[in-house]
Amino acid sequence: MVARVVLVGAGHAHVSLLRKEMKKSVREAEWMLISPSRYQYYSGMYAGFIEGLYSEPEIRIDVKRLCEKAGIRFIEDAVSQLYPQRKELHTEGGSVVSYDLLSFNIGSSAAWEHVPGAEQYAHTIKPTHRLPTVVQQVKGAKNLAIVGGGAAGVEVAFAFQSYNEKHGSYQTTSLLTKGEIMEDLREEDKALLKNELERAGVQLYEQAAVKEMTPSSLITRQEKIPYDKAIWLAGSGAPPLFANADLAGEDGFLPVKHTLQSIEDPDIFGAGDCITVQSHPDLPKNGVYALSHTPVLHENLLRRLRRHSLRPYRPQERYLAIISLGKRKALLLYGGRSFIGRLSWRLKDRIDTRFMKKFK
Ligand SMILES: Cc1cc2nc3c(=O)[nH]c(=O)nc-3n(C[C@H](O)[C@H](O)[C@H](O)COP(=O)(O)OP(=O)(O)OC[C@H]3O[C@@H](n4cnc5c(N)ncnc54)[C@H](O)[C@@H]3O)c2cc1C
Repeated sequence: MVARVVLVGAGHAHVSLLRKEMKKSVREAEWMLISPSRYQYYSGMYAGFIEGLYSEPEIRIDVKRLCEKAGIRFIEDAVSQLYPQRKELHTEGGSVVSYDLLSFNIGSSAAWEHVPGAEQYAHTIKPTHRLPTVVQQVKGAKNLAIVGGGAAGVEVAFAFQSYNEKHGSYQTTSLLTKGEIMEDLREEDKALLKNELERAGVQLYEQAAVKEMTPSSLITRQEKIPYDKAIWLAGSGAPPLFANADLAGEDGFLPVKHTLQSIEDPDIFGAGDCITVQSHPDLPKNGVYALSHTPVLHENLLRRLRRHSLRPYRPQERYLAIISLGKRKALLLYGGRSFIGRLSWRLKDRIDTRFMKKFK
C-alpha cells in the first residue's frame, strides 16, 4: 500500500514545496494538505495591503489551485487534535485522517500571555487568513491600538497611520510595547525609528506591558490608554496542538532535531514558526527562516519514506530585514548595517512581488 504524507498548514515551507518540488515526489506517496483557508496571505506584503498599496489578490496564494497543479489533495479544514500513537489527526470539521508521515507548518498563535480581557477584546491576524477581515473591522477606528513593538507591530502601526492620513481621517494610532521598540536594534536605529514614528504621528508607549484590557482601555502599570479597536501583535504563541499531543517542548512549540524531525516521533516533521530547532533554539520566528526550511524538509520527508538517512538543516546566520515605514519608505537592516528611505522600500517591493509572481 502506498504511504500517505499529510502536510498540515499552508505556511511558507509547504507552499514553496508544492510550487517547485512536488512533481517528482507525488508518485512516491499519497500527499495531501490540510489548511483552514484556500488562501494563504504573504506576510511581507501585509503592511502594503493595510496601507492600500496592494490589493487582496496581489498578496494571497491560492493554495487549493497550487495543490491541484501539484497533483495532491487539498482539504479546507483545521487540525484540532493529533494522536501520534494511532497516527491519526482529527479536524475541526469532524474528519479523521490517518497518516504515515506528517509535517506541520502551521505558524504561531497570538501570544495573549494570560492578560485578562485580551483574547476577548483584541483582534488577532493569526491564523493569517483572518487578515483581510480584521483590517476591514479595524479601519475607521477612532483610537486604534497596536500591542507589540516588534517588527510586525511597527509595520502595522505605520501602515494604518499612512492609510488614515491618505483618507483624511483623524484617528490616533497608539503602539504599545512592554520593553523598548524593536529591542534587538542598535541604539541609533531605535532612535531613527522613534523619530519616524513621531513624524508619522504614531503615539509610542514603551515599558507599557498591558496588564488588563477592558472594552475601552488598555491598562498598563502606569496608565490607562483608551482605544476603540486593538490588534494584538505581541510575539509568537505556541499552537496548542503539540501540548495536547504530548509533543511540545518547554516553550510549547514542536521541538525538532537538526533534521526538522520531531525529537519524540520520527514520522513527524515541522517547519516555520511552529517548531523550535533544538540545536538553534533562538532562531527568529519569521518568514525568512520558515522559507529556509523548505529544501531540507522536502528532502527529509522523501528520505524518511525511503528509510534513508536524513540531511541536516543549517540555518543562515544573517538575513535581510526590511521594515515598511509607510508611504513607500522602509528601514533596511542587514549584518549590523541599516538604511532608511525610499530605495529600501523599492527593494522590499521588488523582492516581495517577485516572490508572489512565482505562485501566480
Ligand atoms: C504584520 C506582520 C508582518 C510580518 N512581516 C514579515 C516580513 O516582512 N518578513 C518576514 O520574514 N516575516 C514577517 N512576519 C512574520 C511572519 O508572518 C511569520 O513568521 C511567518 O508567517 C511564519 O510562517 P510559517 O510558514 O511558519 O506559517 P504561517 O505563514 O503563519 O502559515 C501557517 C499556515 O498554517 C495554517 N494553520 C494554522 N493552524 C492550523 C491548523 N490547526 N490546522 C491546519 N492548518 C493550520 C494557517 O491557516 C496558515 O495557512 C510578519 C508578521 C506579521 C504579523
